[in-house]
Amino acid sequence: MVWLVIVGFLILLCAVSLGKIHLGSCSNSKVTFLNDSNGSGAIFSRKNVLLVIAHPDDETMFFSPTINYLTSRGHNVHILCLSTGNANGIGNIRREELYLASAVLKVAPQQVKVVDHPDLQDGFGKVWNCNLLERIINEEIRFNAIDLIITFDNYGVSGHCNHRDVHEGVRKLLQNTSQHVDAWELVSTNILRKYSGPVDIWLSILRARQCLNGQMHCLLNEDPYKSYAAMAQHRSQWIWFRKLFVSFSSYTYVNTLKKINK
Ligand SMILES: [Zn+2]
Repeated sequence: MVWLVIVGFLILLCAVSLGKIHLGSCSNSKVTFLNDSNGSGAIFSRKNVLLVIAHPDDETMFFSPTINYLTSRGHNVHILCLSTGNANGIGNIRREELYLASAVLKVAPQQVKVVDHPDLQDGFGKVWNCNLLERIINEEIRFNAIDLIITFDNYGVSGHCNHRDVHEGVRKLLQNTSQHVDAWELVSTNILRKYSGPVDIWLSILRARQCLNGQMHCLLNEDPYKSYAAMAQHRSQWIWFRKLFVSFSSYTYVNTLKKINK
């Protein structure tokens, strides 16, 4: 009997959480992320935003709430993927899958760049050089007049060393660049929150509200189905456990971004 009550409560909580997401509340701090609108929805300045990731599918599995938030508000999203994801010898396939997934997420193919460098190969135990990463990211910033970078935090959601190295590359760039560019990191959560699906939005909202200086924002995914459809474009990766991941991962429903200070 008790377990029936618990299951019923969890189902109700999921339903309420999905309802909240569906209503489209997207920010909880006093300053809405990159939204200097006048209240009528008009954006005064569109930003060029660079999403820096390590592998094809990172953009969908982890960052799709952020991408959906930005594209729906007219910001110009670029994706820089620092490897082809060639750990299993299918890098060429995975590169094409990234373009297909990006199209679902409303990021044009000419704004997606996939790097295939011998020193930046996909895999655990493959250390990526921070200076090399800094140089590549810097070239992209200059070429596309980037205003703002979004990337992994120092844990990189899954702890993957390539994700963590990408964070260090961005951090190094911030320390050395003379250009005015802001950077935000995707906050990693513990394993319980990571697999709590839409329910995690409440903790994410609460945490962002506690940060009063505008350095943390919680973005709800206004279209989780689009994330699912985008992940399906990564056909080589679209196996049963990734389908489960996309369904139950809190990163499908919410992203918490935190400003990276120089
Ligand atoms: Zn990855």
